[in-house]
Amino acid sequence: MAHIPKPEWLRKPIQGDKNLTYVRRILSDLKLHTVCQEAACPNTMECFSSKTATFMLLGSVCTRNCAFCNVTTGSPSPVDPDEPRRVAEGVKALGLQHVVVTSVTRDDLPDGGAAHFAEVIKAIRELDSEVVIEVLIPDFKGDETALNLVIEAHPDVINHNVETINRLYSTVRPQAEYNQSLELLRRVREKDPSILTKSGLMVGLGEKKEEVFNLLLDLRDQDCDLLTIGQYLAPSRQHHPVVEYVHPDVFEEYRKKALEFGFLEAASGPFVRSSYHAKEMIENRIIGGNNATS
Ligand code: SF4
Repeated sequence: MAHIPKPEWLRKPIQGDKNLTYVRRILSDLKLHTVCQEAACPNTMECFSSKTATFMLLGSVCTRNCAFCNVTTGSPSPVDPDEPRRVAEGVKALGLQHVVVTSVTRDDLPDGGAAHFAEVIKAIRELDSEVVIEVLIPDFKGDETALNLVIEAHPDVINHNVETINRLYSTVRPQAEYNQSLELLRRVREKDPSILTKSGLMVGLGEKKEEVFNLLLDLRDQDCDLLTIGQYLAPSRQHHPVVEYVHPDVFEEYRKKALEFGFLEAASGPFVRSSYHAKEMIENRIIGGNNATS
């Protein structure tokens, strides 16, 4: 497929201030990984400058090989039992009131890393019981016992991304299943309705508008509360190509449709990512549509 030049709305001014150095130093001192850096998120400068980061647990090597993702694939390192303490220290050092914690997918572990997520939640709560904790979890290969470990640790938000429409799973997420991801969200809602559920997708992978609307309805069928939609950006030419740069007006259309379908909040814009302005989303002050790029 021919390379499509980036449109004007995807040119982001380079921003950075003294907080950048501070955040990088904290992460390095505490030996913490972030999805911001590992996934080469386009918002890294902006988020680090406002002392926000999304911690990535269980190392920086993933056992899956999704066609859209920049995270290294291979044999991951053993689980580090001291990591929960360091994440909690990181939350404190950055002064976070809302923390997003995710992980690489660890299909090599019997529980997919679920117990480790629970330990991290516990460690953060022990250090500061007021912090809002959002976990962005893998599918644990549909293992309900593993998922229950996370639910029972009672984070405030459980986020699990569907990433794309069902039709594109075989090329974009071949080691995952669309219905399994929907089922995960349903189980969270069923087991503990006090936990907010959240999901997200990337557009520009070749999906059609109607297919996106159907995906939103599928998520609402699981009573999913919160939604993020962002532009897919190919990390390299070896990754899935960008099929389309979706216009900001279409993002706004998706956002309005999501609210019409009953999501409590929806952030939709070219630079929106699962954890982008996560705190504001919970506080019901999200920046939607075209403004999400600012
Ligand atoms: S949007 Fe999320 S992943 Fe990207 S830099 Fe911000 S906190 Fe990190």
